[in-house]
Amino acid sequence: MNTSVIGYPRIGKDRELKFASEKFFAGEIDENALLKVAKNIRKEDLLKQKEAGITYISSNDFSFYDNVLDTAFLFNIIPQRYKDLGLSELETYFALARGYQGVKGNVKALAMKKWFNTNYHYLVPEIDDDTEISLVGNKPVNEYVEAKSLGVETKVALIGPFTFLKLAKFTGSKKIADVSEKLTGEYVKLVSVLASKGAEFIEFDEPYLVRDLDGADIDLFKSIYARILANKNGTKVLLQTYFGDIRDVYTEVIKLDFDLIGLDFFEGRKTLDLVKTNGFPADKILVAGLVNGKNIWRNDYKKTLSVLSETGTGNVVIGTSCSLLHVPYTLENETKLSDDYKKHFAFAEEKLTELSEIAQIAGSDYENSNIFKNNQKLFEGRKDSEDKDVQAKVAAITDADYVRLPVFEERERIQKEILNLPLFPTTTIGSFPQTQDVRKNRQEFKKGLKSKEDYIEFNRKKIAECIKLQEEIGLDVLVHGEFERNDMVEYFGEHLNGYVFTEKAWVQSYGTRNVKPPIIWGDVSRREPITVEWSKFAKSCTNKPVKGMLTGPVTILNWSFPREDISIKESILQIALAIRDEVLDLETNGINIIQIDEAALREKLPLRRSDWYSEYLDFAIPAFRLVHSKVKPETQIHTHMCYSEFTDIIPAIDAMDADVITFEASRSDLQILDSLKENNFKTEVGPGVYDIHSPRVPSVEEIVSALTKMRTKIEDSKLWVNPDCGLKTRGTEETVKSLTNLVAAAKQIRG
Ligand code: GLN
Ligand code: ZN
Repeated sequence: MNTSVIGYPRIGKDRELKFASEKFFAGEIDENALLKVAKNIRKEDLLKQKEAGITYISSNDFSFYDNVLDTAFLFNIIPQRYKDLGLSELETYFALARGYQGVKGNVKALAMKKWFNTNYHYLVPEIDDDTEISLVGNKPVNEYVEAKSLGVETKVALIGPFTFLKLAKFTGSKKIADVSEKLTGEYVKLVSVLASKGAEFIEFDEPYLVRDLDGADIDLFKSIYARILANKNGTKVLLQTYFGDIRDVYTEVIKLDFDLIGLDFFEGRKTLDLVKTNGFPADKILVAGLVNGKNIWRNDYKKTLSVLSETGTGNVVIGTSCSLLHVPYTLENETKLSDDYKKHFAFAEEKLTELSEIAQIAGSDYENSNIFKNNQKLFEGRKDSEDKDVQAKVAAITDADYVRLPVFEERERIQKEILNLPLFPTTTIGSFPQTQDVRKNRQEFKKGLKSKEDYIEFNRKKIAECIKLQEEIGLDVLVHGEFERNDMVEYFGEHLNGYVFTEKAWVQSYGTRNVKPPIIWGDVSRREPITVEWSKFAKSCTNKPVKGMLTGPVTILNWSFPREDISIKESILQIALAIRDEVLDLETNGINIIQIDEAALREKLPLRRSDWYSEYLDFAIPAFRLVHSKVKPETQIHTHMCYSEFTDIIPAIDAMDADVITFEASRSDLQILDSLKENNFKTEVGPGVYDIHSPRVPSVEEIVSALTKMRTKIEDSKLWVNPDCGLKTRGTEETVKSLTNLVAAAKQIRG
């Protein structure tokens, strides 16, 4: 059996691309030095796959920042404001990605969005009325030729025109229909150039096909590919889909002249059904995505081989379910993790081995092969992963545990009386600037260079200063500042049973930014109180209310690699019970305002709207309620969410039944406010009054004007005043100025 990989990680095994790019941005190395690092990464990635014996290896899966941006660049979809800067090609590219501020001008970056249901972000291409779509670049051609010169014959991976157009933003009067023919024509040209260089296989990535499609979408898709497939120029075309099943177009797709069709059998709940019910054409090759490109667990060969045989087609290739971009490079990097753990994991490199092993034993009497037997041993049960106590607690959860009483309105009245806050109370989201000394303190403690006492002493000093600063500024609800945390998920994971941490398992989030998600290994429970001492100390420094600060269960799960042996729902409930213990401890210790952050609530929202509630919100929202349902009526529960794209799930957010929610709004032209009003949102709200992602200090007038707009949509008695996210990435000076203006603005409107 043959094997196929949709795409490989591209940041370099030791994050070489990140470090080289950052040096390039800082002017420490020149363009050539950066190009060289990139070339080396491509070479290593290709040879790794070749060595593993992969049949279909992609070229053009590399990117300096993002491959949607690469595609825009390839077809001259570059807004004039970037061209006007008069920069070199690579610098222009980075200007679109990161913005440009310098001698040649000042432009913001393109908007960035989550890539489907992953934590990877792409840049949103902008098409305006002056855009002249034209094949001007040669990245796919160059990278194909480069691979060939290394002795690797590749399939050339392209983001398909359908997905590209559906993701692009049209800023002028033109619509998709006005440009789709032109763009398709340019793709056809590209195919012919690639063919002339000897490319045999071209892969069109069309993940958008797994979303809900309407008739117009399907027509668009068909018209694009009718033309491309009529102009194959002797190449073989692979239609590659991922992140779900293509139930809306499967029967159409198999009628078209694709030579290979790639389907996701891992996340695509209906994929196998579609193939079985409608059949798969005998003259095409099925690339079966069965090795999960999104998670780090070993593949269960028994399941995989059984699905392969159930497809009922002989023309089948075993592939990854999506690009391996979403998993770390290699377990070889993990020197501290014992083999007892490691043998259960497969990062990108180990997934290559899995593909070859599956290909090797498929079709044979595999049950007797050692490869198969060894694999199956892994699924007999894992060391320390089970905790009967936790399982019993989850099983004992009743409907009443999801309900907080008394009802919101009653609590709101009680809390107003007890907290006695002014109208338009001011607060922050939790973190204060993470200055050099704060990081150093943590690092030294972690490395054992600093005693626990000294570490705590330092943080206490910081907390005391932070409280004093907030009092001077005049904020109403204070925070301790989060100096003990490097990351809002890792910090909690470290205090929970059931978590495993890696050293170098980095995954690209966007551009040069990578994340290192912890792994949920087993049943989760709280080992010890996590934040209580810090919050208690902060409270002892002031007479003002101090808000406790926790990360919620949905976010903790969504920013970890989840288990595959139990459901996500089950894991979220376990984490919810652990965080609930913390909430109740804070309350017992006199902290009567507690914020439970759910920054990543939307992350795992299904791609199909019809699945939103049944597949996700119906358990994620109750899990949040489980965390706070047992607190007293006078304890005020806050939550915070980033990425304001939640206009469409407002009722679900209200159903979290928090008392106050703060969120990012300053960048989304306050459109969300209309939606709050329309939905009769009951929860008190603090839409961020300024953007903390920029060092700019907002003026008092600016904040007053934002608040004035908010007051037209939100009752005065429900409006809070706060920045739109934590302040950890900001400098101290700008933070003090901004918050001072924020308090002045609140006072002004109170007056
Ligand atoms: N409490 C966190 C902070 O202030 C929230 C971070 C986030 O929303 N991403 O940093
Ligand atoms: Zn935030």
